[in-house]
Formats: sequence, C-alpha cells, structure tokens
Amino acid sequence: MSDVFSSLVGASSAADALRHHARHPVHAYLFIGAAGTGVHDALNAFAAALQCPDHGCARCPVCRGVLEGADADVQWIERAGPAWRVDEIREAERVARRRPLGPGRQIVILEDVELTVSGASPSAPALLKSLEEPPTRTVFLLGASELPGALDTVASRCVLVRLVAPRDGDIEERLRDEGVSSDAAQSAARAALGNLERARVLADDPALVARLDWWRALPDRLTGTPAVASALAREATALLDEAMEPLERSLTQAATRERDEAAQLGVRATNRREFEAQSRREQRRFRAEELTVGLSTMTAVYRERLARDLEASREGDPRADQRVVATLRRLDALAEAQRRLSTTLDEGLLLHDLLFTLSDF
Ligand SMILES: [Zn+2]
Repeated sequence: MSDVFSSLVGASSAADALRHHARHPVHAYLFIGAAGTGVHDALNAFAAALQCPDHGCARCPVCRGVLEGADADVQWIERAGPAWRVDEIREAERVARRRPLGPGRQIVILEDVELTVSGASPSAPALLKSLEEPPTRTVFLLGASELPGALDTVASRCVLVRLVAPRDGDIEERLRDEGVSSDAAQSAARAALGNLERARVLADDPALVARLDWWRALPDRLTGTPAVASALAREATALLDEAMEPLERSLTQAATRERDEAAQLGVRATNRREFEAQSRREQRRFRAEELTVGLSTMTAVYRERLARDLEASREGDPRADQRVVATLRRLDALAEAQRRLSTTLDEGLLLHDLLFTLSDF
C-alpha cells in the first residue's frame, strides 16, 4: 500500500506513528530532525494525511492539492529574518483562529521553530500562547532541527515526532528502482543529505560530479592572497546558481503540469502567489543544501590532510605539527560556517568570510 508517507525514505518508524495520528489528531505536533531528515516533506505529507478523507492516500485531489501547496486551509507561515519575530507568530495565531474553508482542518505550519528562542526579543512565549486552546478544527504543525531547552514548554504542548535521516544506501536503492543508472544513483545519493527529493533532482543533473570535484579542489586553490579568495568566493556563488537550474526546470514543469491538470478537470489552478511562495521556499532550501554539501566536501579534504600530517608528525617531520594546528583551525572555520548557514540570509558574505579564514594570509 502506498500513501503520502511512502516517499519518506528511512522515516518508516515515524511514518507508522503519523498514519495513526492522521486518524486521531491532536491540536499540535512538533517534528524534530536535523538538516536532511526531511522535516519539510514530513510536515507536508502529514498535512495531506490530515485533510484527506482516506487519511493520506496520495492520489485524491485533496492529497494532491496539499502536496502541491494548493490547499487554502493549509498555511505555511513565512519568516522574513534570521529569527522568528513576535508579529510573525501573531500572524500564525490569526490564521489558526480562522474557520477552514473546506471540510477538513485549518492547518498552520511553522518550520525552524528553534529560531523562536534566539534574537533580541524571543518569540517563543508568543508561540506558546498561540498553542493554548486553539479552535477545535485547527492543527499546528511545527518543525525544528533541534530541541533547545528553552523550547521545553512549547514541546510539552505538542506530540513530538522525531525524524532520522535515511541512509545513503536507502536513497540509492530507491533511485535505482525509479530507473536511475547505478553511477548516477550513487553520486546523487551521496550529495543528497538524506533528502529523496533532492536526490531525484541531482540524479537528473549531469553537472553534479563536476561540482563535487570543484569543491574537492578548492582547498588546493586557496593560495593565500585576498584576490584569489575573493575570486573563488564569486566562483562558488556562480556554481550555486548553476546548481539551481535543474530544480528551476522541474518547478516550471510542475507548474505547467498543474495548470494542464486543472484545465482538464475544470477546476481553478493553484493560486499563483502560493505557488511562487512555495517555489521560493524550495529554492532557498535547495541552495542551502547545495552549500552544505560543498562545505562537507571541503571538510573531508581537510580531514584527509589532518590524518596525513598527524602521521608525518609521528614520524618526526618537524613542520607537521604546525600544519596540524593550521588544519584544525580550518576545520573549526568550516564547522562555524555550517552553523551560520542555518541562520544567515547572506550566503555571499558567509563564503567570503570562510574562504578568507581558510586562506590564512
Ligand atoms: Zn487522499
């Protein structure tokens, strides 16, 4: 039996719990999973299951409407800055008070709610308040990459759903089942960060291997002048733009398909604005993931260097210790960049800072 949860590769334990909850929902859920565990897709699938008369068949117009971002009663609340602002949470509360237009529920979705406890004026108290006694037909779906202690009271009002990243092997197998060649399935699975949707786009992207090679060669190209670091930061940005092309193609195809289907069925196509907002979200996410893969590829190169220099140091190379210290500093800089990536809105600045630190003039 296939349903909206079948495509959540590797999250099978969560899927069974979600199937149960789709039939007997409570008023708030908090999905917790690190980058790549598919929190976004799981929230979307669960929203479809809550609305579907068959609890998530994946085939009916209700399921398709939710999955394509076209259900007016399923609202993704957007955040403009690096942290959730109180007025944005109030907007979520306002939507939560609405009576649903359709026969299903009013579903309010907020991702990255760990960002309600950071910033100058944390918005977690406002979020907590909106979870108090929501209307009976309202369900809050929250997503978070981690559960900081300051979110404990919010978490205590929700059913917790913990997601685990699928293994590369599971994704590879799924891609092969879908007709992707072995080589393409393997490199796409490795660069997919446990995200099946991303893996599908990458499997269809002949430039993927070249991009991975670019990141792998980057440490050797940082020769220690500011001009070189700047030029490479610009190249990296151009590479990210290029990586977006297959996704943009597939979003355009999805838009056309959706319009044609709507015309055939004689129903209204998805609200254009909704569709564009959803596309922007997917593009932002994809770009951040692409950069994550780049940073982890570089990290792997520096780890190899570290292993080599530690070996040389043991064998008595007098300069190896210095190289070990420098490499450890670079690994720290990469880890810091990975952390900043989840909150920064300026990826150009992040790359520039990182490549300057790695160059170590
Ligand atoms: Zn359905």
